[in-house]
Amino acid sequence: MVDEKFDAIVIGAGMAGNAAAYTMASRGLNVLQLERGEYAGSKNVQGGILYADMLEKLIPNFREEAPLERHLIEQRFWMMTDRSHTGMQYRSDDFNEEKPNRYTIIRSQFDRWFSKEVQAKGALVIAETTVTELVSDAYGKVIGVRTDRRGGTIFADVVVIAEGVNGLLGTRAGLRSSPKPDTVALAVKEMHFLPRETIEARFNLHGDEGVVIEAAGTISKGMTGMGFIYTNKESVSVGLGCLVSDFAEHDETPYGMLEAFKKHPSVAPLIEGSEVKEYAAHLIPEGGYKSIPELFGDGWVVVGDAAQLNNAIHREGSNLAMTSGRLAGEAIFQVKSRRDPMTKQNLALYKKFLDDSFVMKDLKKYKDMPQLLHTQAQNFFLTYPTLVSKAMENFLRVDGTPKIEKEKASVRSFVKERSLTGMVGDAWRLARAWR
Ligand SMILES: Cc1cc2nc3c(=O)[nH]c(=O)nc-3n(C[C@H](O)[C@H](O)[C@H](O)COP(=O)(O)OP(=O)(O)OC[C@H]3O[C@@H](n4cnc5c(N)ncnc54)[C@H](O)[C@@H]3O)c2cc1C
Repeated sequence: MVDEKFDAIVIGAGMAGNAAAYTMASRGLNVLQLERGEYAGSKNVQGGILYADMLEKLIPNFREEAPLERHLIEQRFWMMTDRSHTGMQYRSDDFNEEKPNRYTIIRSQFDRWFSKEVQAKGALVIAETTVTELVSDAYGKVIGVRTDRRGGTIFADVVVIAEGVNGLLGTRAGLRSSPKPDTVALAVKEMHFLPRETIEARFNLHGDEGVVIEAAGTISKGMTGMGFIYTNKESVSVGLGCLVSDFAEHDETPYGMLEAFKKHPSVAPLIEGSEVKEYAAHLIPEGGYKSIPELFGDGWVVVGDAAQLNNAIHREGSNLAMTSGRLAGEAIFQVKSRRDPMTKQNLALYKKFLDDSFVMKDLKKYKDMPQLLHTQAQNFFLTYPTLVSKAMENFLRVDGTPKIEKEKASVRSFVKERSLTGMVGDAWRLARAWR
């Protein structure tokens, strides 16, 4: 393998790694990027929504070439019981704009395209190569990596760790602890193929318009988790994820829950007659701000999911990954252009950039949400959806019962299940965690 010294080695060719490698290579740094998959994206999983703004900051004209599926004009949120859903929906023709804000993508295709852009900027990208170890000098500064290919250490001034949520290398090197089961969700996803016209008719779409449905409620059986349905051009992504610690405590399997979600009377008609061609399972970091590990040190920075930079409340991950990769690349470029060494002190610039960006501001805002949703899962994912559904049915069913009695019955059922103080407490806790 290669035996020269690089300005930077990037481990992983997902969203974060590609953004970092692209940023540094386009500024003239000598970059080596190593990816264990057969090609960039071959192992990557996402729902998936691409947030255009973050990619535009790297590649302004990406819409001309990138493999995009549909631009999103509608978002639905469903609060589900086993037989119903209470929905909230926003659809706007304003999202049919010249430069749409959100798209659905298929990661294996998208990452492959992104990687070609990285290579076009001059980075050396080698796939089918797993980094097995970070190499440090006698003072603990990371100076390179070893891989599963023959050959010794590959040296670099700085190593960008973009290895995704598992973070095995960082953990093995003692740079972070392994993610705790209550800070990662296990998600499963299927791709259901249907003719384009069928998708457009079922979801009320025209041309390349797309819709996203996010669903919470009894589908997660009292665990902290959600389901999703995303429209692609000729397929629909259907998935569901719950915290790993919850799966350990409940007698449920991810696949069994996904099957139940697909059979739900609100979901089944949307995917009826489809052909399932892909099934994938993947972890999502959901611990938020409090689970973020050390982000930089002597000779290294960590970006994307490997740094737990994921906003589970807004279902955003790839945009935080791309932004952290870009900011790490910019910080490294600045340190390099000053001819300063890649010490912890100098690489703190990356953390400063992150703190000033939406990434840290958003994660800090929701710092208490992951724990609240975990400890109150039974109420938020089972009790309230069931009560709301009963109240809606009661409200809509016309059966000769006077309206005043219907209203009193609904209020009584809330108070009986949750008590007045319980409800006030829930609202207060939610408002505090949301601030
Ligand atoms: C089911 C699901 C749905 C999601 N939906 C959305 C969504 O709709 N929108 C959104 O923004 N985000 C979504 N996410 C989150 C999003 O996918 C991640 O936040 C994003 O992929 C993180 O990018 P990353 O580059 O940090 O990690 P990854 O994309 O996981 O990339 C890590 C890369 O490193 C490689 N690698 C790992 N170890 C090594 C090693 N030792 N040597 C060499 N290479 C290595 C891997 O093969 C991989 O290519 C979803 C995630 C899941 C699981």
